[in-house]
Amino acid sequence: MKILITCKLPDQLLLPLKEKYEIVMAETENEPMSRKRLLSEIEEADGLFTNVADTIDEEVFDRAKHLKVVSTMAVGYDNIDLEAAKERGILVGHTPGVLTEATADLTFALLMATGRRLLEGMDVIREDQWKSWGPFFLTGQEIYGKTIGIIGMGRIGLGVAKRAKGFSMDILYHNRSRKEEAEVELGARYVEFDELLEQADYVVLLAPSTKETYHMMGAAQFNKMKESAVFINTSRGPNVDEDALYEALQSNQIWAAGLDVFQTEPIDAKHKLLTLKNVTALPHIGSAAIETRMNMARLAINNLVNGLEGNALVHQVK
Ligand code: NAP
Repeated sequence: MKILITCKLPDQLLLPLKEKYEIVMAETENEPMSRKRLLSEIEEADGLFTNVADTIDEEVFDRAKHLKVVSTMAVGYDNIDLEAAKERGILVGHTPGVLTEATADLTFALLMATGRRLLEGMDVIREDQWKSWGPFFLTGQEIYGKTIGIIGMGRIGLGVAKRAKGFSMDILYHNRSRKEEAEVELGARYVEFDELLEQADYVVLLAPSTKETYHMMGAAQFNKMKESAVFINTSRGPNVDEDALYEALQSNQIWAAGLDVFQTEPIDAKHKLLTLKNVTALPHIGSAAIETRMNMARLAINNLVNGLEGNALVHQVK
């Protein structure tokens, strides 16, 4: 059987696979396989190992003659057409859990970096603009004891709430369902979406990208936030209306934003959001810790092999 891997994986992960399967893999690290090559190689593939950089749509499924399983090295699967997979009886696997803590770490790091203007500080030094100590030089927002509002209190949301608890923050959250664990263990308070926006000093978005969450943060939502509030998005780009976010930041309707994800990735270096000083931007590195990425890759391989061998996937997307 043939496995198509659209990114470059380390040899140590591939060796057991090579004994049993024919492997076709991207040659370059940090560069996805071209769409053209993906569409050509998928024709004879039995298994596909993919990630957030690929769009696995109807066109891909139509080309595939033998495909049995798609395994993504990610928890989010908004880049995969699940209906098209289901219609063809193709299983889809993903990697929840193993990236929760690393992504919660990054989310909290981004919150701190944005609130306290860390990257601006680095720029000031690099540009030789550090002239003296000033009473209000590069002053940011306090973090300790402030109110955090988490939209999407799932695995990663809960991880962020635990970190916020360590900073004595009041924790508000909004979900479609109640998360008892967060309420009992952390004293998190469930509030309606609007109340969260109005009260939080830090609004952190961690809901998945779905039809329902598309542009869930738009002009009306930014309008409800405090002028001193910081917005953090480590979920998915389409959840945010970037034009509305730009307007809110430029007009100082909100104070700053920390973004790890964007509508189009990679974001164009000339994108208007990147012209703003009050934006801290990262290149979708939420789960990018070495151990985490190894664990994600192992889990994605297990999903793939299980699917190819006719066994249940460790984590199948329902
Ligand atoms: P999860 O455990 O499924 O949590 C998602 C939460 O969002 C759930 O609690 C869900 O609760 C809530 N939710 C769903 N729809 C909602 C809506 N319309 N309004 C409000 N809340 C809603 O997933 P996770 O493992 O925490 O991951 C969350 C997301 O983070 C992933 O889907 C992915 O897009 C993103 N992510 C990004 C990175 C990165 O590198 N930046 C890394 C990992 C994950 P209810 O069902 O009760 O609403």
